[in-house]
Amino acid sequence: MNALTGWEDTIVALATAPGVSAIGVIRLSGNQSWQIVDMLMPKTKLLTKESHTIHFGLLKHEGEPIDEVLVSLFKGPKSYTGEDVVEISSHGSPYIQEQIIKACLFRGARLARAGEFTQRAFLNGKMDLAQAESVADMIEANTAASHRTALHNMRGGFSVELSNLREQLVRFAALIELELDFAMEDVEFANRETFYESLKESAILTKKLLDSFVLGNVIRNGVSVAIIGKPNAGKSTLLNTLLNEERAIVSDIAGTTRDTIEETINIHGILFRLIDTAGIREGVVDSIEHIGIEKSLEKMKQANLVVYLFDVNTEGDEELQEKEAYFKKEGVRFLFVANKVDSEDQENKLESGRQNIVKLSAKHKRGIEDLKMSIYNHAINGKINPDQTIVTNLRHHQALEKIIQSIDAIHQGLDDKIPGDLLAIEIRTCLFHLGEITGEISNEDKLDFIFSKFCIGK
Ligand code: GDP
Repeated sequence: MNALTGWEDTIVALATAPGVSAIGVIRLSGNQSWQIVDMLMPKTKLLTKESHTIHFGLLKHEGEPIDEVLVSLFKGPKSYTGEDVVEISSHGSPYIQEQIIKACLFRGARLARAGEFTQRAFLNGKMDLAQAESVADMIEANTAASHRTALHNMRGGFSVELSNLREQLVRFAALIELELDFAMEDVEFANRETFYESLKESAILTKKLLDSFVLGNVIRNGVSVAIIGKPNAGKSTLLNTLLNEERAIVSDIAGTTRDTIEETINIHGILFRLIDTAGIREGVVDSIEHIGIEKSLEKMKQANLVVYLFDVNTEGDEELQEKEAYFKKEGVRFLFVANKVDSEDQENKLESGRQNIVKLSAKHKRGIEDLKMSIYNHAINGKINPDQTIVTNLRHHQALEKIIQSIDAIHQGLDDKIPGDLLAIEIRTCLFHLGEITGEISNEDKLDFIFSKFCIGK
């Protein structure tokens, strides 16, 4: 029986990606993990070895050799899960890995459920819930920005920001409850004014975290960009230029709908999804004139940013003014991009006109950097500070919204001078929502739900 979790079973799963690779890692966690692997390679005498050591040996099942492996040993609580852990590095053939896992099962392990390693780490106090969730984000991170944010949160950045508020609330609640014990004497231990002011600061911080979600979403899911314009404006030429230069290697993003064909590019660490690129290629769904206002508006509204590309030689200022008025009326965020600015002459021609137009020549690959910078700036609206805590998780966002409401209710209560016991209830509600983020109050069902979003082996 494991003293920490109360779980008797030892779990096993492939920790590395399934499929053929040079090396794969199979991980076991639980109080039988060392014994199970020891039975599979008795000659190595693993039970006599120290924690945090690596051993080479032949792994066998019922006398049949399976593979020569390296085994890393971790004694709990100094391990990822806080339990005894063994990691077996074998050759990366799915067949070998399956045989090793089967041998572990035969010796008493059971297959891990999705996210169970991290769930155990959480239950054993190795990390709080927000940290545990960012482990999943870390593994999914596919750009510099998403990696940076996940790492910051995994190392506790988010939790630290909230711990201050939590401390304040707990302290104040304790004082109020003390007052209630002395109800007959009409004393006030909890200084309401100080509490009111410090709550104000917490509200600002919470609001900041809430606002960061917009950016968090951008970092996690990428920014959708629709390139539109008249036929022959140069959309497919531009698309190809962009894709040739910056096509993101990873284009499979969790949580995004895949019913339109998308290409992704990576600009300064942010993922941009160019939507409906198939349409551009085939020249069918690309121009307002061609597909009708309704349909193109729908497409434009789906995008975080519309790049309106026009041929500098054929589309004049009047037309642009019309487009601008239209975009503004519909609340579409847009960027005007003048194409076929092949020479300085043409550039000067535009110079006399309006500002804030990106000028480029898609064919001659001029001005592409400027375009990328403008797209990036439109999406990010300022700099990303690597130390800033950015909320990327919808569950956290929802809890933060409730925290803000709760803080408002406490403020209101203080304004109305409500009795201490009612104030205490408001504070408990706020603590409850805080706990929803860090896991202090989560019930089993909720945990299972959160960890089931991991894949097996994490
Ligand atoms: P789409 O219909 O908007 O996708 O336009 P295309 O990308 O097919 O381009 C239409 C024509 O414009 C093609 O002949 C391109 O070679 C040409 N074109 C695209 N970009 C430029 C450019 O920057 N300068 C010049 N001179 N021609 C361009």
